[in-house]
Amino acid sequence: MKLLALLLALAPFVSAQLQIDPVIAAEIAKIKAIDNHAHPVLPAAGDTEYDALPVEHMDPYTEPVRTRVGIAPAAEASRQLFGNAQKRALIEQKREGYPNWVLDQLGIETMLANRVSLGPGLAPPRFLWVPFEDALMFPLDNRSLASANPDRKAFFDDEDRLLARYLKECGYAKPPASLGEYLQKIVDPTLDRHKRGGAVAIKFEAAYLRSLDFDEVSRAEADAAYTHKAAYKKLQDFLFRHIAAEAGGLGMAVHLHVAWGPGGYFHIAGTNPLLLESVFNDPRLHGTNFVLLHGGWPFTREITALLTKPNVYTDFSAQTLLNYPRTVAQVLREWLEFAPDKVLFATDAYPYSDEMGWEQSGWVASDTGRQALGLALTGMLNDGEITRDRAFELAHMLLHDNAAKLYHLDKLYDLK
Ligand SMILES: [Zn+2]
Repeated sequence: MKLLALLLALAPFVSAQLQIDPVIAAEIAKIKAIDNHAHPVLPAAGDTEYDALPVEHMDPYTEPVRTRVGIAPAAEASRQLFGNAQKRALIEQKREGYPNWVLDQLGIETMLANRVSLGPGLAPPRFLWVPFEDALMFPLDNRSLASANPDRKAFFDDEDRLLARYLKECGYAKPPASLGEYLQKIVDPTLDRHKRGGAVAIKFEAAYLRSLDFDEVSRAEADAAYTHKAAYKKLQDFLFRHIAAEAGGLGMAVHLHVAWGPGGYFHIAGTNPLLLESVFNDPRLHGTNFVLLHGGWPFTREITALLTKPNVYTDFSAQTLLNYPRTVAQVLREWLEFAPDKVLFATDAYPYSDEMGWEQSGWVASDTGRQALGLALTGMLNDGEITRDRAFELAHMLLHDNAAKLYHLDKLYDLK
């Protein structure tokens, strides 16, 4: 009896919650999206190249509710994607066509694949490559950085292995003696090779390894740091800006993880996007477009202000996995009201576990992202800020058109 009375008392509040305008929802559901950031997995067994720093071997920490084992969104995603079929059987049946089939289920036309390399089943034009460049920033002995905490130990082992691979691809077994040679023989050729391999952007996961304050450092200071193996941060800072400038010259955007990250040792304050402001303001880097992945969460208001920089973009991946639609909608609405031409849809689809593969996390993020966008646009429509036509236009911009413009995808498709 008491419970019923409580429910009746709450009813007006529940019904007062904003519901998505059905016409806007229908339009959003129709749009084939460009996914700015994800980690799709090869259909062949044993793939480990979906990340340079796989996060499955971390010390235990308090996981956000929506990423805990057994939560509802993962089961719902499996039902929607696979029905009664088994994932393994579907892969057997579709083979290299499987990843494209997954994109069709998610309503995604093109997915930017942030991977060490692409491979059979993950190919343009549906999958576009975004390789990792952090390893190039850490050419000295990384043991003292790795000992900072148990999670970073594994991360720096991974970076050392990736640098060894990049060195080998340039015909070297270890970094050359001078910074000049390192830039000329290793760094620039690696970026060139990535560009020739089809990369539309490059990615830094630096936030897992250090804070994002990449200061201005002179060439003389960087030369000395490289030669004397001292003042390592200055060398990293110099290399970051050098790589960003080169990438801009090659027409590749620079993607950065800018947000909370998993793990009990992750340095959240070190990912405050305002730490990057002097990078965005560096006149040498005005030809480089920076995409701040995950919308800087929890620093989403700092992102709002930074979107006024001509070379700064953001996406709302990860928030759509960690948070519920109504919470994400509040963030999206602020960006939509301020600089909607700089905001990109993304899923950060990632193989977290058997029950939460890249397919399920992609489905959850796509579903939550579209609901959040619908809620934000409906709120703006109801408050008289926009017309329904403008709501449609904004939906197309966030889900597709902004990314198509940023990466010149129309030109890319014309070449095929
Ligand atoms: Zn990611």
